[in-house]
Amino acid sequence: PLYFDTASTTPVASEVIEVMMAYLGVGGCYYNPSSTKHQPGQAAAASVELSRVEIAKALGCESDEVVFTSGATEANNLALRGVALAHASHGRHLITSAIEHKSVLDTCHALEREGFEVTYLIPNSQGWIEPEAVKEALRPDTLLVSLIHTNNETGVIQPIEAIANILMEAGVLFHVDAAQAAGKLPIDLAATPIDLLSLSAHKFHGPKGAGCLVIRNRRQLRLQPILYGGGQEFGLRSGTLATHQIAGMSTALRLATSRRQQDYPYVAKLKKVFIEQLEQQFCIKIHGDRERCSPYIVNFSINGIGSDALLNQLATTVALSSGSACSSGTIDPSYVLRAMGVEGDALYGAVRASFSRYHTMTDISQAVERITAAVRRMQELD
Ligand code: PLP
Repeated sequence: PLYFDTASTTPVASEVIEVMMAYLGVGGCYYNPSSTKHQPGQAAAASVELSRVEIAKALGCESDEVVFTSGATEANNLALRGVALAHASHGRHLITSAIEHKSVLDTCHALEREGFEVTYLIPNSQGWIEPEAVKEALRPDTLLVSLIHTNNETGVIQPIEAIANILMEAGVLFHVDAAQAAGKLPIDLAATPIDLLSLSAHKFHGPKGAGCLVIRNRRQLRLQPILYGGGQEFGLRSGTLATHQIAGMSTALRLATSRRQQDYPYVAKLKKVFIEQLEQQFCIKIHGDRERCSPYIVNFSINGIGSDALLNQLATTVALSSGSACSSGTIDPSYVLRAMGVEGDALYGAVRASFSRYHTMTDISQAVERITAAVRRMQELD
């Protein structure tokens, strides 16, 4: 099938695979970077440090502020739990939004069970959080605000800069889940006062199981670790470093960053044509702000068509996604769209298509043709 679910995961770039292979086998640099007593271990450590420098360069931070994790889920857990548990004596209030990824929401729920209070901000109907709403939710005991940069379901981009400036003035820590933004949209930590930033390699043509949490001013900002052991990653994330994953992630981010000027307009064109061609066939509704949106994601409903039935029809021909999870016969519509006030048929019909630099215009036309055929079949069956 044509794969239009890159917000879920992307293929690893061939340049990245090549680099990763050099860290795996006999004759390669497969050594443990913590074994610094011998030259092979030192070589592995040097490679990890090189990756750290490369990632820092792409994000506009210092290399010793990059803490490697297994992905954005772990980075989000470390940011939220790390800050909350280390600073509980100063306050027990956190602010996030109702449209976060589950790795933030469920961490917040766990913290609530441990005695913390969490405010879940509701987005406007366009899918973004008003900076004023963040300001109004602040309390003297607020430790941290955690917001998603680019929403994984709608692609809507949050007003991160405005919120970061409000929080810097208020002296409250700001964590940003940039899993859908890194490598695709510009992120400059040198220019934006963000304290913690999560990212995940497999969203930008790197390997699965690799990510990082950037902790600005790490020497000043205390975090409680989640994993204890050998004390790797400045004592914040014990465990032997996954050298091949780390090298893969930094290569993928360097590649994505160097290609961004060409990839961004190219992918934006793919999305524009996809929407235009669909609109020629059907009456569709696009969810979320059309301007303040990532070119990599579109979330839409086709009038009168349910998403689960459509995705079933397309399962072997076009890979799309919906926010709904079908468990034991009951359909859970997207909590993200629900929070934006989307309801009824539009809510139950919502489908996400997500794009990458590897798609062609022919892929787009073929996908629209297949979607059109599937919808016509469904309409005939009705
Ligand atoms: N945050 C967002 C916004 C995501 O889209 C994802 C992807 O699933 C994650 C976090 C989790 O990332 P990972 O798969 O690296 O744990």
